[in-house]
Amino acid sequence: MSKNNDELFKNVISHAKEYGFVFQSSEIYDGLSAVYDYGQNGSELKNNIKAYWWKSMVQMHENIVGIDAAIFMHPTTWKASGHVDGFNDPMIDNKDSKKRYRADQLLEDKIARYEKDGKTDKAAQLQDAMDEALKTDNLDALRDLIIEHEIACPVSGTRNWTDVRQFNLMFSTKMGAVADDSDVVYLRPETAQGIFVNYLNVQKTGRMKIPFGIAQIGKAFRNEVIARQFIMRMREFEQMEMQFFVRPGSEMEWYEYWKETRLQWHKGLGTPAEKYRFHNHTKLAHYANAAVDIEFEFPFGFKEVEGIHSRTDFDLSQHQKFSGKKIQYFDPEINQNYVPYVIETSIGLDRMFLLTLINAYEEQDLSDGDKKDSRVVLKLHPCLAPVKAAILPLTKKDGLPEKAKEIMDRLKPDHNLMYEEKDSIGKRYRRQDAIGTPFCITVDHQSLEDNTVTIRHRDTMLQERVAIDGLGGIISGLVSWKNLLGK
Ligand code: ATP
Repeated sequence: MSKNNDELFKNVISHAKEYGFVFQSSEIYDGLSAVYDYGQNGSELKNNIKAYWWKSMVQMHENIVGIDAAIFMHPTTWKASGHVDGFNDPMIDNKDSKKRYRADQLLEDKIARYEKDGKTDKAAQLQDAMDEALKTDNLDALRDLIIEHEIACPVSGTRNWTDVRQFNLMFSTKMGAVADDSDVVYLRPETAQGIFVNYLNVQKTGRMKIPFGIAQIGKAFRNEVIARQFIMRMREFEQMEMQFFVRPGSEMEWYEYWKETRLQWHKGLGTPAEKYRFHNHTKLAHYANAAVDIEFEFPFGFKEVEGIHSRTDFDLSQHQKFSGKKIQYFDPEINQNYVPYVIETSIGLDRMFLLTLINAYEEQDLSDGDKKDSRVVLKLHPCLAPVKAAILPLTKKDGLPEKAKEIMDRLKPDHNLMYEEKDSIGKRYRRQDAIGTPFCITVDHQSLEDNTVTIRHRDTMLQERVAIDGLGGIISGLVSWKNLLGK
């Protein structure tokens, strides 16, 4: 990470804490590694990102419905899905520091360093060798690469490495009062399986016709070997997933469709196009016949935010086999029964949150000649902003607070608002800029005379005078989901 990017990332993390977006979990006990809580503004922003996803996937598609499956599932689910045997990361320990690393990530960091130093041939060579080792599950070869490329432990600085071993990422616990091995249940490592096991229920009760999709937002848990980069890699996180069931043979067409549709969703928020790129998987998961990541350029480089996977009929066929229940679709158009193929879109809500925060964060110098001034503003899309408008009486007297509260009461059934009367108006504007509030409504003495107020726009800082009666319509128009979804 360059110094500027490093500093920017650090500033975003402190801003997230200072303004009630993200706190470390159980901070008063020094925190729990890679687990985070969302604060008063963070939970609003997170809910708005969820709403954007849910509305665009479920509400805007007549053939997609949403569900909310439980986190605990029958343990056989995870045998069938391949997670018990195959949901592993290759890990390696440094014998001196006793620190554990993901072998592939040590190698990826080295590749990034080669690239940064202009050693592109070496980077490509190492990338190919690593891909081959991962593809063939050759753990010895991964270790050999770490030795050969002289990768040292960032903590001890030594190259005293153990062998590379597989490490299962699922958390398990016991269900019920009597604990024996048959009672082991897992905290789901992905939300997808909750959709697959409900395929028949939803298809039948919703009378769904292929092609159709089932969407879900929910928690997932992974015992990540190393957790880093703030909320980028957590042990408890949230996913927004959609499984789209299609006729066998049509999956590549739908894969391309969802690739483009999902990229457009990201760009719809106004993110510069060059910040996104596709990254095709070279090592396909056991269930996939095509897979691509949508990557975003974070301050620490391009990283995955969302995966689009063509999962074939693997999951439904496995559940059919393990449950003994027939999971098939009768397609009246071709007069055939088949196990549907699946295209999955899977986005991490927390990574999307981080992306949104980083993208919106701006430090602005507003100095005018000798008069020094600056502000930090979150240029969030108004639909995503935690607070839609702040209602600010110019002073604490002369009946202005009463007038302001009257306006607040009229508007709050429709919008999340904030009332503030403490400090100068300038300071209050800055506080709202820092949490991304798109509009500040100021009630002054003129308001008492002619029932008008000023609206200050966050990004331009320009103000306009409007009638109080028209306020509801103006704000509703500016924060309407139509602005994002109506194109
Ligand atoms: P990575 O390669 O970064 O570990 P993955 O390929 O294992 O991710 P998927 O299994 O495809 O991820 O999960 C779908 C999405 O869930 C990812 O694109 C990411 O946004 C999110 N995600 C996965 N693991 C985590 C995590 N530990 N913390 C936060 N988000 C995660």
